[in-house]
Amino acid sequence: MSRIAYVNGRYLPLRDATVNVEDRGYQFSDGVYEVCEVKAGRLVDERRHTERLARSLSELRIAAPMSPAALGVVLRETVRRNRVRWGIVYLQISRGVARRDHAFPAAGTAPSIVVTARNLNLDAAEKLAADGVAVITVPDNRWERVDIKSVSLLPNVLAKQAAREQGAREAWFVDGQGRVTEGSSSNAWIVTRDGKVVTRQVDHGILKGITRTVVLDAIAAQGLELEERAFTVDEAQSAREAFITSASQIVLPVVRIDGRPVGNGAPGLIATALRRDFHRYAELT
Ligand code: PMP
Repeated sequence: MSRIAYVNGRYLPLRDATVNVEDRGYQFSDGVYEVCEVKAGRLVDERRHTERLARSLSELRIAAPMSPAALGVVLRETVRRNRVRWGIVYLQISRGVARRDHAFPAAGTAPSIVVTARNLNLDAAEKLAADGVAVITVPDNRWERVDIKSVSLLPNVLAKQAAREQGAREAWFVDGQGRVTEGSSSNAWIVTRDGKVVTRQVDHGILKGITRTVVLDAIAAQGLELEERAFTVDEAQSAREAFITSASQIVLPVVRIDGRPVGNGAPGLIATALRRDFHRYAELT
């Protein structure tokens, strides 16, 4: 079955799904995106993703190409046409096509929108979660507005590649004070030796992950103790547990940080339970 993408109003086979060479997303990474989990063919937390998208667009003063309701129709139709059962739907909106000039194009320039969807391998994902993953740490060299989900991801690309080359699954960015900000494509968490769940507070220095928000609900519902604060690499390495969260990975236990085992070197109980129970707290539509 050939995959189908939605491009500016049309559903096209992937090989024909192209954007203009003067698209500002291509030339300046002047655009935003969202990734939403698809479970049993349904969207997970569509409302929260749509709200975050609206915020990213408004922070960058990019016009919304369609209403949230219309976007919901396109997301679902793209999922349906690609027969996604468990996987992801990706959407990207750029400031549109214009003759290359750094400053904004003329008012009224239509934003571009692309949506793709694909299945992920559930068995492989479950195996990864059962084994746990390794992370490395890298200096956080990103700009100060990573709360905006922009497609400008070069530091994230380089960090993830460094992780791959060192046999790790994720790279954690570390700020100038030696504290973990977040992963290259995930939020970072630890569980301290006295059982407190810790994740960095949201400000402009991390992306407010939708999975993070839902996991906070799960933590509150389960009566776990929570601290929203920065933690150092040292603290993480001597923590009882560590894990990462993102829409495509849900909750993924971390068992090694820069080569040092976390806890007993196996996935932790809290991370495992949060992964198991996650969808009880998420919205499926
Ligand atoms: N931080 C970064 C830098 C990310 O790219 C992602 C994944 N999009 C996240 C955090 C997690 O966000 P979410 O739970 O909404 O997928």
